[in-house]
Amino acid sequence: MASGLKAHGPSVDTEMVSSPSRARYLVGVLILLMACWLPSALAGGETNLPPLALALPGIYAALRLGAGAALAAAVTAGVVAGPLTPAAIDPFEAQSAGEWLFRTAFFVIIALGAHRYARRLQRETDRHHAQARTDPLTGMANRTMLDERLATAVRRADRSGHAVALAYLDLDDFKVVNDTLGHAAGDELLTAVAERLRGCARAADLVARQGGDEFLFLLNDLTPGHSAPVAQALFDRVQIALDAPFAIAGAELLIGASMGVSVFPDDAPTAGALRQHADTAMYRAKESGSTWAPYEASATAPTARLTLAARLRRAVRDDELVLHYQPVVRLTDGCIMGVEALVRWRREDGTLVNPGDFIGVAEQTGVIDAVGDWVLEELCRQARVWGDAGLHPKCGINVSPRQLRRAAFAERFAGRIRDHGLDPQRFVVELTESAWTLDAERTLPVLHALRATGVLLALDDFGAGYSSLARLLELPVDVIKVDRSLLAGVPERVAAVAVFEAIRGLAKACGCDVVAEGVETAEQLVLLERLGCQLGQGYGIARPADATVTTERLRAGLEPGRRQAPAAALR
Ligand code: C2E
Ligand code: MG
Ligand code: MG
Repeated sequence: MASGLKAHGPSVDTEMVSSPSRARYLVGVLILLMACWLPSALAGGETNLPPLALALPGIYAALRLGAGAALAAAVTAGVVAGPLTPAAIDPFEAQSAGEWLFRTAFFVIIALGAHRYARRLQRETDRHHAQARTDPLTGMANRTMLDERLATAVRRADRSGHAVALAYLDLDDFKVVNDTLGHAAGDELLTAVAERLRGCARAADLVARQGGDEFLFLLNDLTPGHSAPVAQALFDRVQIALDAPFAIAGAELLIGASMGVSVFPDDAPTAGALRQHADTAMYRAKESGSTWAPYEASATAPTARLTLAARLRRAVRDDELVLHYQPVVRLTDGCIMGVEALVRWRREDGTLVNPGDFIGVAEQTGVIDAVGDWVLEELCRQARVWGDAGLHPKCGINVSPRQLRRAAFAERFAGRIRDHGLDPQRFVVELTESAWTLDAERTLPVLHALRATGVLLALDDFGAGYSSLARLLELPVDVIKVDRSLLAGVPERVAAVAVFEAIRGLAKACGCDVVAEGVETAEQLVLLERLGCQLGQGYGIARPADATVTTERLRAGLEPGRRQAPAAALR
């Protein structure tokens, strides 16, 4: 555990005496002593006290503090109220060796009792001290402890030349949980989140809760200049930790988080400034949605990237996105076999922004989850409209690697399709190779799960990067979409033709369909036909268009009389 503190459960050390009970004990002993003294005073100062009065403080102390304290109380009572006199208990006044031994033992027991009592008081003080530095809900360090440790860490880093990073983490939409499920559920969620966050910190780090849904990570002893990858790694761990849904109050909750990071001495010269800057960075991260952001001194106003992300998030909410569809046609007769959904952003002035200008930022900042949800929902809605009109094209949808990391992605994806009364087999998820190979251990099971629901998988832009032909055999691929850069050299570049042929041969062996992307010219179409490539997509066949135009195209493309081989049309 990173904080070095143990969670305090309900079983707080009951042996210890808390502050109010100690006060009660002292008052109790005083009252008893007075009660003891009163009869002897009334009896004219005589020391013939009833034995019960003498025993009462002892019994009380025995119950509260143990035998030693009981003896101490009884002796004190005895001396104050009688019948004991100092001479009667002083070992040096002993008349015999036996009496001396008895009196000495008497004092040893009293001393031990006093020692035990002092130790208990010390432990109790320590516990109060720890409690004052612990968040009672999660058992994590609280703000007080974090401030102490932060000051120490900064002082130490200043001497040793190391760096210290402070990461400020805030849960997304926690308020919604509190408002809809109640505060008890909110507390339950915070406790569960804290438990997962503990596992994200390194042994040397401190993780603290400063109240509400705000958590802080204090990352010690960093190598100067290496804080960004450490922060990135921390955020990755946090995302993975929060990935699985939380079962709270009978509901499955998915919680995202935003994190801001500030580094000493690069971003802030003092502990106070470090905290403030981490806070500022967190708000910038929050603005762009479920991401992390380093502190940027120059960026008092949010950077263009983050502004774009924030605007995009709003665009999703305000329904400013639109889908265009590009047909995928059978090259022999021009029949539209499917459409690929391509998202665009319609700005207030009516201009359409292409995905190339915002998908990258959406992926980096996490807004892609919201964009992806919107795209699937809209595609399902449109597919349903087409279905009702007797049009049943395969629907291609682009999915980013990051989306695959969401909990239960496959089940939720297919579930959404079925909610619209559609068959998952009509949908083709398009993924670039990096989506398959990056973090393959996590993504491959998701892809298999997706395929098990009936959804088809397409390897998008194949050949654009460092695609490995051999890997194709390992992946659950149904369709290979050959990147347009490969087709760009066809038919002039003989090598490109050879590569194209090789891909086709391999696809055939794997039982995959091949779609040639970026078909622009008649020559390319002729060659594709010659190579036996069945499916194509490109500006030369049809540019992406809105739903209305696409519906017309589908009607025409599926109407046998009006079909025409694209090659013939382009000639
Ligand atoms: P992609 O999935 O490879 O989509 C094909 C892109 O190539 C589209 O660009 C399309 O307009 C363009 N294209 C099609 N035929 C031709 C051609 O003959 N010549 C040329 N030069 N280009 C052609 P677009 O719509 O700008 O999309 C770009 C990329 O953005 C897509 O590449 C895809 O990776 C991504 N994208 C689009 N929509 C989404 C989405 O909803 N979610 C995600 N995650 N990514 C998306
Ligand atoms: Mg695609
Ligand atoms: Mg593509």
